[in-house]
Amino acid sequence: MQETTKAEDPSATFTGWAAVPNGHGILQKWSYHPRPLTADEIEIKISHCGICGSDIHFSSEGWGPITRPAIPGHEIVGTVVKRGDAAIHQVGDRVGVGCIVAACRKDPCEWCAKGEDQFCEHMTITFNAPYKDGRGGISEGGFADRVRVYGDYAFKIPSAISSPEAASFFCAGITTYTPLKRYKAGPNTRLGVIGIGGLGHMALQWARAMGCKEVVAISGRDNKREEAMKFGATKFINTSDKEQIKAAAKSIDLCLCTNASKDNNWDEFLSMMAPLSQLVLLALPEVPISFTGSHLVNQDVAIIGCHLGNKADIEEMLEFAVKHNVRPKVEKRPFEECNEACKDVHAGKPRYRIVLEMDGAKSEHQ
Ligand SMILES: [Zn+2]
Ligand SMILES: [Zn+2]
Repeated sequence: MQETTKAEDPSATFTGWAAVPNGHGILQKWSYHPRPLTADEIEIKISHCGICGSDIHFSSEGWGPITRPAIPGHEIVGTVVKRGDAAIHQVGDRVGVGCIVAACRKDPCEWCAKGEDQFCEHMTITFNAPYKDGRGGISEGGFADRVRVYGDYAFKIPSAISSPEAASFFCAGITTYTPLKRYKAGPNTRLGVIGIGGLGHMALQWARAMGCKEVVAISGRDNKREEAMKFGATKFINTSDKEQIKAAAKSIDLCLCTNASKDNNWDEFLSMMAPLSQLVLLALPEVPISFTGSHLVNQDVAIIGCHLGNKADIEEMLEFAVKHNVRPKVEKRPFEECNEACKDVHAGKPRYRIVLEMDGAKSEHQ
């Protein structure tokens, strides 16, 4: 347990928009008292927060009932306004926070020792998760004016990346960057991307920058074709046209599935996978997925998951994005309109990521 650095104002109050039990996904204004700031923590004044599908699954109770008001949001960008004496950031630093806010604080476990803190038993996700660091409390996310996190879970944002754009890197960006790196996407890869939304449009750009031999955008909507090609796709498959799926049989070496729809036809996806290929699930469906299995056995196809990335991956991704000019396409909306914005995300309307912007957040980093 860390010591607090100075007497903390116990009346400190952060205000945000919380999902509530039986709230039907409607967020309500709600305040909470943050945990006292410790030596290695920082307080961030939030300027932007992206809206991810996970925030919607959570607030609409698609992943299970909510038992308390809880502030979602895990693509957080803001400025450090307070720091503990040993924190790695300085007041004034512009930082981003993603899906994880804590793991082992000392005596690293097997996974923290390997640098894969996303699998740590003591890992705490960014919202509505009990901290396992012995100090109690529950994490609250970024649809709020402020947040406190351990400094090593806040990442300095390169000056070349604007704040609204930066937000999307911390979930959509890292979720798609990590599997491409782990499964060695490169000049020999015929890559598929299922779902051209917040995650998918990032995946297409990473794939182009990594020099993939083919980048296949797979979507049920033909109106995504033109932009998908601009993001880096070399080919587009419309899944509502069965002939296009047939023509693509056994043609994809590595495929990222960013679509969590209950209507996904997994047998069709698997039919497009080449021998010895991998289909990576990046979005968490609300229902069990099912498929017949023959493609898996006959073509040696592996279905695998990929959960975020580790801290080093995040730093590397930000550098890679600057070097290769990878940027999300974002639409800014005021925090006060978060409910309308969430509704639009639920309806699949964003092109391609909605980022909430705090009133007065205008800065030189727009
Ligand atoms: Zn997310
Ligand atoms: Zn650990």
